[in-house]
Amino acid sequence: MFAIISDIHSNLEALEAILADIDARGVKKIVCLGDVVGYGANPRECIDLIIERTEFCLCGNHDYAVFYEPYNFNVSAERACYWTRQVLEDEPNKAKRDRRWEFLSRLPVRVVYEDMLFVHGSPRRPVNEYLFADDVYSNPHKLLANFERLQQKACFVGHTHVPGVFVDDPYFESPDELSEPGFHEVAEDDKVIINVGSAGQPRDRDPRAAYGIVDNGQVEFIRLDYDIDKAVNKILNTPELDDFLGQRLLEGR
Ligand code: ZN
Repeated sequence: MFAIISDIHSNLEALEAILADIDARGVKKIVCLGDVVGYGANPRECIDLIIERTEFCLCGNHDYAVFYEPYNFNVSAERACYWTRQVLEDEPNKAKRDRRWEFLSRLPVRVVYEDMLFVHGSPRRPVNEYLFADDVYSNPHKLLANFERLQQKACFVGHTHVPGVFVDDPYFESPDELSEPGFHEVAEDDKVIINVGSAGQPRDRDPRAAYGIVDNGQVEFIRLDYDIDKAVNKILNTPELDDFLGQRLLEGR
């Protein structure tokens, strides 16, 4: 049994709520699909918690951007990236500062764990490719190529901040549309690519924090209330972070 968290985006309030829920359920192992930083106001604290609490953490495009360089970022994402870099650089305690940079410098882009593949983006382009629900209609070849690339039965991805399950037809179901809402088999006959949604910046019009738990061959999709106003206000009070990055948390988009 293990929990999967993804796309925290420096949202400490969401991350703390999720970790408390994981602890309350007695789940001991946690994996992270990346984008620990970017957008939100608490990059230092989020990195520290991910280092301390997870089995491994993948490299997301925002983690990559902060350590290396932003790739295909819009203006507000790029500003948030450079602000995050400055905050990490300004840490007065050298040991803490070095530990965080070391963490960002060593993030893997793909991990196989318990016979499943874990990436931030997609099986074929693990850091930057988005797998959208609409791709089922608008770009099915992208999904088919990714299923072809996938050697395992199941793959967990983040990146779009929208939870759901891709089956290799290809087909997409949101957690509410599953035959048992909120639950899906991980090791069926069909290959699956599963997104557990975003901890710190959901984009499916549900502002609650999202994460998943894998237990006994099943993934459970979980949503949690957290102190959104507190996370939003920190962003609004940071000039380098665009107000929109806070407002969108209230709407889950
Ligand atoms: Zn993200």
